[in-house]
Amino acid sequence: MTQNIQLSQSGQPRVLLAVTAHPDDESFGMGGTLALYARRGVAVHLICATRGEVGEAREEFIRGYDSVAELREAELACAAKALGLAGVHLLNYRDSGMANTADNTHPRALAAQPVGVVADEILELIRLLKPQVVATFDPIGGYHHPDHIAIHRATLEAFHAAGNPARGKRPIWRPNKLYFHTMPHGYLRMAVKILPLFGKDPRKFGSNGDIDLTAIAATRFPTHAAIDTRSVRQIQDAAAACHASQGGREMAHGLRAWLSRLFNMRDTFMREFPKPAAGEAIEKDLFAGI
Ligand SMILES: [Zn+2]
Repeated sequence: MTQNIQLSQSGQPRVLLAVTAHPDDESFGMGGTLALYARRGVAVHLICATRGEVGEAREEFIRGYDSVAELREAELACAAKALGLAGVHLLNYRDSGMANTADNTHPRALAAQPVGVVADEILELIRLLKPQVVATFDPIGGYHHPDHIAIHRATLEAFHAAGNPARGKRPIWRPNKLYFHTMPHGYLRMAVKILPLFGKDPRKFGSNGDIDLTAIAATRFPTHAAIDTRSVRQIQDAAAACHASQGGREMAHGLRAWLSRLFNMRDTFMREFPKPAAGEAIEKDLFAGI
């Protein structure tokens, strides 16, 4: 399908850059937003810092691949195609696993790297890709995953450093806006109430039982932008289904999908830059004013 390329008010092609940590973050998180802008003709790029080496996958999924990393890279390529991404840029760090596991101390573990080192790589890609809008995890990394928090910090630093001529190699580029994708608070609170009715512990959520929904629901970030993703729901489901080894098919079809459809028909974001003015209305478009 050919697309008209969207131009910003200054005549530049519109570019959205999402920065995440693992293959599947792009689909399970702000996938609807990425698909929506790709469909509108925005060049949507993804930086993914690791290959999700620590993700568990059953034998049936690994067959035909040399490693979990190779399998997950293939799943990411599938999802990128479904979402209509213009490019995927891997940073070659290693999945650090959840907090307090041995994988945290691997020499290439993302969460063990100095923030500035990861930021330097992201800032060079910002300068190369020239996004007006950059989006990444919120300050608690969605659900306290150490890699998500590492990427949040590195992206925040890179966003501001990309415009600093004293740093980096490529010519500077100053993106207009930085957003943090936030978990849908109402959905979380509802999930904490509903899951016990199905015999599930909200403090041990997810296929590895390592997500504490009760703790996540206790943090509430402001919503500065809300993107209605209902029109691309099927695309998002197709992208999630690409991550079959990580439960993507169940995400697209099961109880969780039903819950998320009921409470999560939009992606919510907190705007870090520029800081919202007092009383500013919630944006419906990440490119508003660009
Ligand atoms: Zn992740």
